[in-house]
Amino acid sequence: MNKHYIFDTHAHYHDGRFSETASGLPAPPALLDGLFADTIGEITDIGTDIETSEKAIALAEHYPHMYAAVGMYPGSCPIPYVPEQMEDTISKLRTLLNHEKVVAIGEIGLDFHYDDVPREIQQHWFERQMQLAEETHMPVIIHDREAHGPVLETLSRYPGVRGILHSYSGSAEMAEQLIHMGYFISISGVVTFKNAQKVVEVVRRVPLEYLLVETDCPYLTPHPHRGKTNHSGYLSYTVSRIAEIKGIPDAEVCDVTRKNAYRIFGLRQEQDTE
Ligand SMILES: [Zn+2]
Repeated sequence: MNKHYIFDTHAHYHDGRFSETASGLPAPPALLDGLFADTIGEITDIGTDIETSEKAIALAEHYPHMYAAVGMYPGSCPIPYVPEQMEDTISKLRTLLNHEKVVAIGEIGLDFHYDDVPREIQQHWFERQMQLAEETHMPVIIHDREAHGPVLETLSRYPGVRGILHSYSGSAEMAEQLIHMGYFISISGVVTFKNAQKVVEVVRRVPLEYLLVETDCPYLTPHPHRGKTNHSGYLSYTVSRIAEIKGIPDAEVCDVTRKNAYRIFGLRQEQDTE
């Protein structure tokens, strides 16, 4: 019987919550070995600053089916903005991007929900990392929280860059614009929430060929496990909800979103599903 594996395109397994016994989860080795032995085909672990980017690479070095993304998250951008300091970080990122398991720059973008970093500082770092993507031909993983207009405007100024809108929360109309610009729309556990009408509409309208799935773990745990620490084992709830919305089998959602992830991350097709 063919097994249908899932590619979790966005996880933070380096997060401290996974090393605490209080989380109710085993430590990452036991957890991750179990996930890869079960339904998870691949995972991309996402950095949010230099330190967590290095941790993501360390995990990717340890697990053959784990990949890493490196970048400066909007909330991690240092205050005040010092151009020389940014250039120093950009050259560190450029070095990390040479690692064979690094598949993207991310997560980067704008967060206007948590306004603790001034918007102009977030914008400087976002733009500079888009330029790095242009220079290195790497895809980007975009964090957009309550900043849809400025994110779309910024991405449109870098037409050569491709990537992923992670845990997408924009409108179906914006999603259609983004897929024409070469972006994939990544769906998180939010689609299983009762108040998820907007994301449900996005899943209905965007062709499966442009969708990805992600946990964003330890955050965004799908229904009915909300409140617990999220992990890739719960991604099947997200897959099932997408399948239900589209009226297709779960297996098709697994296979197509996995193939999409291979495409955007530039990985060789190693799937045994067809
Ligand atoms: Zn994330």
